[in-house]
Amino acid sequence: MASCLTSTKNYTVYVIAHCSYPVRFTSGKIPPMSNEKEYLPKIAMSIQAHPDDQDFTVAGTLAKWARSGCKVISVIITSGDSGSNNVTKGADYKPALAKLREAEQQAANAVLGISETVFLHYPDGELVASLALRKELTRLIRIYKPDAVVTGDPAAWFYGNGYINHPDHRAAAEAAVYAVFPSAGTRLIFTELLEAGHDPHDVKRLYIHGNEKSDTWVDISATIDIKIEALKKHVSQSDTHEVDKWIREWANEEGKEKGLEFAEAFRVMILKNED
Ligand SMILES: [Zn+2]
Repeated sequence: MASCLTSTKNYTVYVIAHCSYPVRFTSGKIPPMSNEKEYLPKIAMSIQAHPDDQDFTVAGTLAKWARSGCKVISVIITSGDSGSNNVTKGADYKPALAKLREAEQQAANAVLGISETVFLHYPDGELVASLALRKELTRLIRIYKPDAVVTGDPAAWFYGNGYINHPDHRAAAEAAVYAVFPSAGTRLIFTELLEAGHDPHDVKRLYIHGNEKSDTWVDISATIDIKIEALKKHVSQSDTHEVDKWIREWANEEGKEKGLEFAEAFRVMILKNED
């Protein structure tokens, strides 16, 4: 892993792999940094495949926004019911594990200041970016009307030479991106949602984490301790996590090219200007 740090011409992005396997990659020249004032949505929605994905990747940003008055909704598509390789456990353990991991996510979200958590209960490890999932996410976006949606990178198949991105991560991100555009804002897509009273909603910004072309760095120096505290709530997954050390190292690495002690990096799509 250390070889990723050899060139100062490259910037390094850390990506947290599902589940509990850290990797990072270098990705070319540093893109120009936006000099825009840091954006603060009034309502934000995080859409992730598994419990703990959000807390490894974007929780510092969500906590920062929540503490600044943003209402944050956390959507977790699966409940992580395949997140155990204990040889004494079989299929009958999955419902209990799902419940346990949902409780862990609720506890983490309480630490972050997230006001609402939505579990969609899809099976862990079997997620596809189906139209049904896209419609469900579209419904949630139309109900909660977030200014910003935060998710992963649907185009990320590989990170470095050591990690194949979990297919659930890609599926969740693809469904989320296409729910944001075009489904949420287009009246005649999923007309049953319209008939149920869910009018179109335009998301203003899409925050993609784990993209090679990050263009926005959120300073999480004030919330990194909260991020770590939230991550530690995922007790069922924590046996291999050196959470404090990893998170500080990754966030420091992500921020240092921009002079930030700790940061989370995103590619941000600006879909609609502020009213
Ligand atoms: Zn995951």
